[in-house]
Amino acid sequence: MFIGHYGPSFLAKRAEHAIPLWALFIAVQLLDVLWGIFVLLGIERVRIVPGFTKTNALDLYYMPYTHSLPGALAWALLAGVAYRLVSRSGRGGVLVGAAVFSHWPLDLLVHRADLALYDNTAKVGFGLWDYPLFTLVLESALVLGSLALYMANTHTLMGSKRYIMPVFVCAALGVQTAMAFGPPPSSDSAMAVTALVAYALLAGTIAWLEKGGVSEARMPGGV
Ligand SMILES: [Zn+2]
Repeated sequence: MFIGHYGPSFLAKRAEHAIPLWALFIAVQLLDVLWGIFVLLGIERVRIVPGFTKTNALDLYYMPYTHSLPGALAWALLAGVAYRLVSRSGRGGVLVGAAVFSHWPLDLLVHRADLALYDNTAKVGFGLWDYPLFTLVLESALVLGSLALYMANTHTLMGSKRYIMPVFVCAALGVQTAMAFGPPPSSDSAMAVTALVAYALLAGTIAWLEKGGVSEARMPGGV
């Protein structure tokens, strides 16, 4: 799962407007950001096997630190506590922690059985990546549904930027679809770098959109 992960970030933002969306964009992908770094450092491993699933070529055979259940819980706790300390908002900390953990159950839906319940063993995954159309519909529904809920509760001081948000999300969805039908990545490190650049670009773009006031809370009786 890629773009579908951003659904929970819009829901968390809707629940607590004080949390910057760019921080939530990083939170929901934190496990993958760490995965990219750990693959580059040789701490976690992935094999590129063309045709491994019908959606991508990733044999994710060793990622106990980022994508095991205890690993995901630990990173969620750490991120939640860190946000709590920085923002002094207990509610914000809980929501950021929940956003980080949301990555794991969503990955559980699409991954083959490569998510360990402990260390690098007892692996689970429902394998929806083998049903590309269903995966695409699921991810689109997740991100667009959450975005619609979030936008229904916001207004903007700079009206034009408001409508860039759904265009931006749809463009990201289009890029993901195109990549699913494109050639597999040339190597594990190329895959890791591509993923890290994509997460940085998405978080950077959302920070720019947010700067325009897209995330302003709708005030009672406001426009
Ligand atoms: Zn993941």
